[in-house]
Amino acid sequence: MVAEKAADSTKENNKQLDVLSSTQTVVKNALEKLGYPDEVYELLKEPLRMMTVRIPVRMDDGSTKIFTGYRAQHNDAVGPTKGGIRFHPNVTEREVKALSIWMSLKAGIVDLPYGGGKGGIICDPREMSFRELESLSRGYVRAVSQIVGPTKDIPAPDVFTNSQIMAWMMDEYSRIDEFNSPGFITGKPIVLGGSHGRESATAKGVTICIDEAARKRNIEVKGAKVIVQGFGNAGSFLSKFLHDAGAIVVGISDAYGGLYDPEGLDIDYLLDRRDSFGTVTKLFNNTISNKELLERECDILVPAAVENQITEENAHNIKAKIVVEAANGPTTMEATKILTERGILLVPDVLASAGGVTVSYFEWVQNNQGFYWTEEEIEEKLYQTMTKAFNTIYNTAETRRIDMRLAAYMVGVRKMAEASRFRGWV
Ligand code: GLU
Repeated sequence: MVAEKAADSTKENNKQLDVLSSTQTVVKNALEKLGYPDEVYELLKEPLRMMTVRIPVRMDDGSTKIFTGYRAQHNDAVGPTKGGIRFHPNVTEREVKALSIWMSLKAGIVDLPYGGGKGGIICDPREMSFRELESLSRGYVRAVSQIVGPTKDIPAPDVFTNSQIMAWMMDEYSRIDEFNSPGFITGKPIVLGGSHGRESATAKGVTICIDEAARKRNIEVKGAKVIVQGFGNAGSFLSKFLHDAGAIVVGISDAYGGLYDPEGLDIDYLLDRRDSFGTVTKLFNNTISNKELLERECDILVPAAVENQITEENAHNIKAKIVVEAANGPTTMEATKILTERGILLVPDVLASAGGVTVSYFEWVQNNQGFYWTEEEIEEKLYQTMTKAFNTIYNTAETRRIDMRLAAYMVGVRKMAEASRFRGWV
């Protein structure tokens, strides 16, 4: 009996942590609130296309290893699909599907002419050499080449992928396509057609959301205590921006642990010592766990790492007044409810992290027009886009008396549902 109960609760817990089913539930709620019939949900609950590929790579020790990768294309009614490629040992098919739905929602929220896509490869780039990574990146592009392209599906960086990987992928695609195809992928190095401001774009977008959210809650960002979980692309740039804006970054973390100091951490030193995967805490022996870090005292908490970090187990212990999700899917549905009931303002991932894809769009536009904008121009456009999206969603949440996640899904799903109907799909 006890064992049965334990098995039931594990099952329930696994369900809650399954990012695809929780995303589907919120999409369903959003479509219902918007008054769409069930067939629209049936169309949008899964990607239109999902490709699984097997990529052989000759390893440095002479052996051949076969890697599994995915590319999901959620919905292309509005335009080509768009979204990053993640290299991570925990990548799963269901995760990539959920991530592609989130990309569709982000595109809708910041009003880009895209649908959502996402890719992933099950691998641990921290354990691979530069040459092995190049071979894997090129192999992935060859494997998915038929379904991707500058007017079909445009990849970008995500967890553990960067501008070097985008460069290899662009080069491989250009060979297959027999054209120089910078618009095939975004997040490239500037010299290969990358955009100013793309590398820091996700963090910039999060900073804009933090400013807006703080204003709503009458909190001064200058002097506010902030915890940033994750020191990768988003987390590291964000810590720097917040630190420079006068916030006190009291906590940071990487995959191995966290650092907390109520007086504030030396962010410039930590940035200087981090490796290219965002690892820095290994250099210290006074670390705490990621779990502990989330529950420490602060005004603003930014989960900027991976999924399912704030759950019903720890949501009651979060001290922050504002939680801004820089990662994709860091808070479960149950935790969203708990935080909202506790009066904590939760700015959801599909809004807060949309700065990355926004500047990716600017990069793609610049590649297509062959004319490039300055950093100031990009920053101004990003600022306009993010503040407009934040306020639309905040006001929707207020008027409808719903949480910002549901409001964001409503705003994000509308254009795609409309476009699918005009095309006669549903
Ligand atoms: N991987 C990023 C995201 O999850 C950026 C995607 C893109 O730039 O297309 O939003």
